[in-house]
Amino acid sequence: RDITRVMQLGLSHVERLESLTKKATTDGLTGLSNRKAFLERLAADLARLDGRHPCGVVMLDIDHFKRVNDTYGHPFGDEVLRGVASVLGKGVRKGDTVGRYGGEEFVVLLRNPSPEIALEVGERVRASVAALDLQRFGVARVSVSVGVAVAHGADQPIGELIAEADRALYRAKRAGRDRVVAA
Ligand code: GH3
Ligand code: MG
Ligand code: MG
Repeated sequence: RDITRVMQLGLSHVERLESLTKKATTDGLTGLSNRKAFLERLAADLARLDGRHPCGVVMLDIDHFKRVNDTYGHPFGDEVLRGVASVLGKGVRKGDTVGRYGGEEFVVLLRNPSPEIALEVGERVRASVAALDLQRFGVARVSVSVGVAVAHGADQPIGELIAEADRALYRAKRAGRDRVVAA
C-alpha cells in the first residue's frame, strides 16, 4: 500500500509538471502554441536544415480586427480568434506548428515546403478563413492578410526569416488585404 501511495505521489508531480509546461507554451485563449514555444520550434527546425529540407513560415494577421472588436464587442472578437485558430489547426499537416504570435497575428511553421507549396498553404489558409461561418458569433465575415517566407539554409537567422514573412505580410496589407504575398 505504501509503495502505491509513493507511486501516486510521483505521478501527481509528473502531471503537475506537465500541466505547468503546457501552460508556459500554450496560448490560453486559442490553445495554440504561444510565441515563445513557436520560436523555439522554429529555431530547432532551422538548426536541422541542410539545404535539402527547407522550412517555411506563414504569417497572418486578421484584417481590420479593431473594427470587429468595436462593432461586435471584445468577447465576440475573442470567439473570432478561436474560430480562426481552429481552422488553422485543421488546415495544416501533422508536424507543422500553428502558433498565436501576437494579439490577432498567427504563424504556421511548415516542414519541408517548396516556395510553391508554402504559397499554396498560405492561400488555403486565407481561403478557409474567408469561408469561415461566424454567424454564431454574430460576425459577418473576417479576412486575413498573409506573408510567406521559406528558408533554405541553416545559416539563415530565425529573426531574418520572421522579418521576411512580416514584410511580405505588410505588402499584402498595403495591396488591399485578404491576400497572400511571398517574400
Ligand atoms: P489591419 O487590417 O491593418 O491589421 O487592422 P487591425 O485593426 O486588425 O490592426 P490593429 O493592430 O490596429 O488592431 C488589432 C486589434 O486586435 C486591436 C486589439 O484590440 C485586438 N486584439 C488583440 N488581441 C486581442 C484579443 O485577445 N482579443 C480581442 N478581442 N481582440 C484583440
Ligand atoms: Mg496586427
Ligand atoms: Mg490586424
